Amino acid sequence: MVCGKQKAEAIRVQEVHIITVETEVLDIIQRTGDVKSFRFKIKEDVDFKPGQFFFVAIKIDGVERTKHFSFSNSPTEKGYVEFTKRITGSEFSQALDKLKIGDWAKLKMPNGSFTFQGEYEKVAFLSGGIGITPIRSICRFTTDKGLATDIVLLYSSRTEDDIIFRQDLDEIASVNENIRVVHTLTSPDVDAKTWKGRTGRVDEKMIREEMKDYGERIFYVCGPPKMVEGLVDILKNRLSVGEGKIKTENFVGY
Ligand SMILES: Cc1cc2nc3c(=O)[nH]c(=O)nc-3n(C[C@H](O)[C@H](O)[C@H](O)COP(=O)(O)OP(=O)(O)OC[C@H]3O[C@@H](n4cnc5c(N)ncnc54)[C@H](O)[C@@H]3O)c2cc1C
Repeated sequence: MVCGKQKAEAIRVQEVHIITVETEVLDIIQRTGDVKSFRFKIKEDVDFKPGQFFFVAIKIDGVERTKHFSFSNSPTEKGYVEFTKRITGSEFSQALDKLKIGDWAKLKMPNGSFTFQGEYEKVAFLSGGIGITPIRSICRFTTDKGLATDIVLLYSSRTEDDIIFRQDLDEIASVNENIRVVHTLTSPDVDAKTWKGRTGRVDEKMIREEMKDYGERIFYVCGPPKMVEGLVDILKNRLSVGEGKIKTENFVGY
């Protein structure tokens, strides 16, 4: 396959239109010290929903290696698809870190049901670290579409420097009065002189304080499995949120 040319193969699977595309890296954006976004050129419109994920294959020593990542862009942002990853010491991460604009990649998409397109009047997103990726996609989508959904996002990061999509989330919240973003920092070294926001992990108290109407909301929880498990436990057992009102996405692998 010639790098830069796209070949799309459409396969119908249970009414979901999944495509495989050979493409190239369009852009690489450093988000925080160890988090990067990778954008891939897409000529045709990909029919994905905000919050879904896709499979990405890159070549490591000439061999195709695949992992899956949430779309961090919204379907309203055309011409590319993007994922955002914490660069770890793993072989795949290290290969990603060496990717250059124009390099080959193969994408298979879309997949997943952790989606939101305006189905509910009030939602809450609970997220930590890299788990922000599908939520950023959803918040961008609801804003670009002018949806009236009332959204509260509780987002925990280790330090201020680790807040992924900070500027982007600020911009979304400034143009969309229906979205409120609450940051909390979990590092014990947070300087109270410079950080005026919340500190500590998202817990029962924080949820009660930040959304008095939590009982009316649909909860979307995304992050590493341990974090998701802990938050679901709080929602179900301390706040009596019914299982049917909780949606989760586990970033298995961290
Ligand atoms: C539905 C879904 C959506 C997802 N979306 C995203 C997303 O948007 N962004 C994202 O970042 N991830 C996402 N993930 C997780 C992703 O698929 C990977 O599993 C994850 O990024 C870890 O991959 P890795 O190659 O860094 O680590 P792996 O090779 O899977 O290793 C696991 C851990 O071991 C450590 N490790 C491995 N090898 C070494 C080494 N040689 N030296 C030091 N440490 C090492 C790494 O710290 C890593 O955290 C998603 C997962 C799912 C299921």
